[in-house]
Amino acid sequence: MPTTIFEEMSLLARATGAINLGQGFPDGPGSSDLLQAAADAVLTGSNQYPPSMGLPETRRAVARHYQDHQDLDVEADDVLITSGATEAIAAALLAVISPGDEVILFEPTYDAYLPLVLRAGGAPKFVTLRPPDWRLAIEDVAAAVGPKTRAIVFNNPMNPTARAFDQTELAALAALCIDHDLVAICDEVWEHVLFDGRRQLPLIAFEGMAERTLKIGSAGKIFALTGWKVGFVLARPNLLGPLARAHQFLTFTTPPNLRAAVAFGLGKPAAAFETMRADLQRSRDRLASALAAGGFSVLPSEGTYFLCIDLAASGVVGADREICLRWVREAGVAAIPLSAFYASGHQPGDVVRLCFAKADAVLDDAAQRLIRWRQGAS
Ligand code: GLN
Repeated sequence: MPTTIFEEMSLLARATGAINLGQGFPDGPGSSDLLQAAADAVLTGSNQYPPSMGLPETRRAVARHYQDHQDLDVEADDVLITSGATEAIAAALLAVISPGDEVILFEPTYDAYLPLVLRAGGAPKFVTLRPPDWRLAIEDVAAAVGPKTRAIVFNNPMNPTARAFDQTELAALAALCIDHDLVAICDEVWEHVLFDGRRQLPLIAFEGMAERTLKIGSAGKIFALTGWKVGFVLARPNLLGPLARAHQFLTFTTPPNLRAAVAFGLGKPAAAFETMRADLQRSRDRLASALAAGGFSVLPSEGTYFLCIDLAASGVVGADREICLRWVREAGVAAIPLSAFYASGHQPGDVVRLCFAKADAVLDDAAQRLIRWRQGAS
């Protein structure tokens, strides 16, 4: 199996000294009160195994957070703490899939999903979304569903497209899951990173979905501390129980100190989350407008740390991967080619992803480098 595109581009950025707008991580230190809470918990709290389901206070904090922010009717017992969302997705697939079951994946597909589906013995069925609007066409999903289909893996807001699906698309998807008795494995790690006044619409809240949805979240994206790897799963006992059995032999548990800090962070006032969104939205607009002024065709970004560029519409000729390899060496900017997220062979055009969760000066410098490169190349 090849190295992930994120690791490949980050290593190239380090080797060449390029600005790294590839792998999605913020360049700030994180909020000092959370860091202090983690440090205090290391020094004064327990450093022994927490329970496999998670510390009761962390599970309570996650449940309360979802009650407050998404109006979900959940209890601490509906929550399991994992080592990041990727572990939660692995455990979900191992719990839900039997060998030979088919799983619907939406392309461009976040890189971890396909290998994890295959390792669980599942057979992927791809539904391809298309730029510039990346709409979810329910007839395409219906066409991919067959008698062996067991689950969908659904990322909303979606990485790498930066799409936040709307009420109509979600209602249609929920109805389809119910009609075909499918389990929805919902990767909602970007649930707080939404722009232009959008609010998360969790699929688990749609009528008839509570018993068939595993909702996955992560502190890494909520608090801009991607290395912490504290994830959580919300589900009813019929799904959470089997997932817990898979989780106990993957990582069993995750560091208690970081969970204590996450529990503190999840209880912060709503204004803290609004500020985070507003700051990121400003960064998105700063990079998007600089690139657009320099002749790049920037696709809309409704959520996540990312925006995408349509290469052909920007007058840049070449395959997205080849352009990213040239950019890192010739322009000094690392980006992510969306071709890394297509396995079906139906990639609709060459698109690259840039991470804007960076300081203004870094974004300005990166935009100027790309604009200079484009002028030199055309
Ligand atoms: N989620 C990160 C991104 O989309 C990548 C995480 C990783 O490197 N595995 O950039």
